[in-house]
Amino acid sequence: MNYIELVASELSRIREANTFKHETPLESAQAGIVKVKGKNVVMMASNNYLGMSNHPVVRNAAIEGIKKFGYGVASVRFICGTQTIHLDLEKKISKFVGAEDTILFSSCFAANEGFFASLVNEKMGIDDYRDAIYTDKLNHASIIDGMRLCKPETTDKKIYNHADVAHLAKLLKEDDNKNYRLRIVATDGVFSMEGDLAPLDRLVEVTHRHNAILFVDDSHAIGVCGETGRGTPEQFGVLGKIDVISGTLGKAIGGAAGGYVSGKKELIAYLRQKSRPYTFSNSLPPAIVCACVASFDLLAKDKSIVRRLHENTAYFRKEIKSLGFRILEGEHPIVPIMLGEASLAQDMSVALLKAGVYIKGLWFPVVPKGEARLRAQVSAALSKKEIDRALDAFESVGKKMKVI
Ligand SMILES: *Cc1c(COP(=O)(O)O)cnc(C)c1O
Repeated sequence: MNYIELVASELSRIREANTFKHETPLESAQAGIVKVKGKNVVMMASNNYLGMSNHPVVRNAAIEGIKKFGYGVASVRFICGTQTIHLDLEKKISKFVGAEDTILFSSCFAANEGFFASLVNEKMGIDDYRDAIYTDKLNHASIIDGMRLCKPETTDKKIYNHADVAHLAKLLKEDDNKNYRLRIVATDGVFSMEGDLAPLDRLVEVTHRHNAILFVDDSHAIGVCGETGRGTPEQFGVLGKIDVISGTLGKAIGGAAGGYVSGKKELIAYLRQKSRPYTFSNSLPPAIVCACVASFDLLAKDKSIVRRLHENTAYFRKEIKSLGFRILEGEHPIVPIMLGEASLAQDMSVALLKAGVYIKGLWFPVVPKGEARLRAQVSAALSKKEIDRALDAFESVGKKMKVI
């Protein structure tokens, strides 16, 4: 077999199981209502939780950013790729998430890859050391890959059951007298398949009781969770108590690109020296940086945006249940609608698109066998009328397919 044959045969195998078999291209901007195949449909599959992706203030900031600071910076940060706006954005994020300092990356994937290895692969003056990372079983691929970059010779990796604080406590306790140099507990703030939250208050308590560091990737929570959208730490009343927070600027905060790590100023200064995706990769472009600054400013000024997201979410959760659908309970705008069979989830997402709702299904291997679902994502960009339009489609398709 030549390499093309090899790849093609593997591809057909992958396609058998692939959740996202068909891309359905948008003919419009990402928004509450999008255009697909010439038709306007209600978007319920994007991470555009706050409607910032196409918000006039954010769009305009991006355009002004290009006018004033150009299209690209053609440099990494530490050579000549730092503009004043990069520093502004880092300050804004620090203030927003309640941390001392922040370092930007081109994505959260890069941020997570940059964080772990830069700490645990360095001797830091200690010749004989071992570190341990404790990771939630359902953590995001970028945390898993970040951990893969950590040398096994010096790093022990331990998986605790999903959101299981007692299991984590047991693992930490077992290791209390093993003389680890660093111990890091890593979790998503929000888990994207279930829409559930890590129990941060209890994770803070148990992690610090065992002198470990708590790392939270708040990608699905920044701008979303907590009364003012500061993320899961705000929702659990532990703002300022998380040692390290990472997140994306590619979801609620504009939806374009960019990621960050926030924490103590010494840590952030260290990452600027040692984090390879920061040191050896290009600066974020000015349009993105300026748009993100505008997005954070908008959130600080207009509290109604996050409030609307929360109201829309509560409304959709209540109404979809009263139609007779089974959902995973929670508070997050990710609302898994449980269907069981993969083929049902697949057929229903196709039927819903025809009925005017853009939504995708998830099935094995992304979620356990027999737990196939549609994943609805609510947005502040939707009016109540538009949510009602989606609910009507759910009702008629659900009845036709005998789900309700
Ligand atoms: C989306 C997501 C990422 C990836 O963010 P990018 O900025 O798109 O790289 C990382 N971690 C979690 C938990 C996410 O949900």
